[in-house]
Amino acid sequence: MNVELISIGDEIITGHTVDTNSVYIARRLAEIGLTVQYKTAVGDDLPRMEEVIYQALRRTDIVIVTGGLGPTDDDVTKRAIVKVFKRNLVFHEDILDDIKRRYAERGIDMPAINQNQALLPQGATYLPNKTGSAVGIVITEEGKIFASLPGVPREMMIMVDEELIPFLQARIKQEAIRVIKLRTTGIIESELAERITPHLKLPESVRFAYLPSYSGVDLRIISRGPSQEVADENAETIAERLSEVVGKYIFGRDDDTLELVIGRLLTDRKQTLTVAESCTAGLLAGQITSVAGSSGYFACGVVTYTNRSKTGLLGVPEETLEKHGAVSAETAEAMARGLREKFGSDYGIAITGIAGPGGGTDEKPVGTVYIAVSSEPGVISKLLRLGNDREINRRRSVYAAMELLRRTILEID
Ligand code: ATP
Ligand code: MG
Repeated sequence: MNVELISIGDEIITGHTVDTNSVYIARRLAEIGLTVQYKTAVGDDLPRMEEVIYQALRRTDIVIVTGGLGPTDDDVTKRAIVKVFKRNLVFHEDILDDIKRRYAERGIDMPAINQNQALLPQGATYLPNKTGSAVGIVITEEGKIFASLPGVPREMMIMVDEELIPFLQARIKQEAIRVIKLRTTGIIESELAERITPHLKLPESVRFAYLPSYSGVDLRIISRGPSQEVADENAETIAERLSEVVGKYIFGRDDDTLELVIGRLLTDRKQTLTVAESCTAGLLAGQITSVAGSSGYFACGVVTYTNRSKTGLLGVPEETLEKHGAVSAETAEAMARGLREKFGSDYGIAITGIAGPGGGTDEKPVGTVYIAVSSEPGVISKLLRLGNDREINRRRSVYAAMELLRRTILEID
């Protein structure tokens, strides 16, 4: 079953209030396996609200509205509901008694306009409101479920947790869900798709998506089944298939990050690492040491911007810099090797490049970056041809360098 969430109120569409209600509800629904397909926002405007609710009921099974349930004239949600469902309003004595009691407890006479709040569309059931006066409204019709909840976040949240979720759970066909995210890096989305598509046959119950970012492309598998075992098994079957086809690009799963994965590899092997950076100036060291426990494998990081520092601190030969330039495979390799040997670490990584926006030449345009990894058997380097954006270039270089290290450790080519 799919869901549309509708947030109501002028303050939402004008940007005065951030629509946190739909975020909260979407998360809660995901926990019981319900997928939100549309989120809509509409102002306190009767005709537009009718239109939006009408559309939502046509295209989704469950429609959940928040806001505009108050007793004042600006709250017109109930009027829209009555119009869309073509029902009259019916007075509920018990609701009015409840509101009266609430006011009495606070020592105030109930204002007359609150009487409105005891009126509900014919045939609707209501969800009690523990902390406010507007009850939630639920209407089921032709297999669809419609719910209208108060806009005040605290009232909405309690009602969702204590009333709506149990209500929906009792009515929806129970489905188990399993999500697996396989994390790749070092390959672009379209190339992944070219390799994967011919080899992947998805059953009805499994959905698959590519989620690209600067650091790589995540492959997301969502599997649904009548039981958790079935959902798990189908998801794992697809994950295995993907590993067979593009396994060497997959560095981890779900919450894994490259820095975590590298950390695990080095920890398991009791190995250490040094980092020599030029254009990323400490970003790589920062990323690697963002992992708790990195002191176990991170020996030292050095930022060497000038040629002199590359020679003096890392032992890059002057001839190498003169002959090939500071941004070259030879320099990157000498940087990685130099620091590794100085510290006697197992691995040395280096990055040197032109992050931009200035400093490019025809031969070495902005975005030219060399990364290198040195280890006992030797040193390897790689040329990255990145774009014009300094920040993105720096970040991409960091990920590429970590990936080169991962592949070196695991001996993947
Ligand atoms: P009331 O009975 O208090 O009038 P209501 O159901 O009519 O409640 P609204 O008047 O629409 O709800 O909103 C009440 C308060 O809740 C407002 O301060 C509003 O900013 C906040 N609110 C409404 N909708 C949302 C939302 N989608 N996300 C976050 N806050 C919201
Ligand atoms: Mg209101």
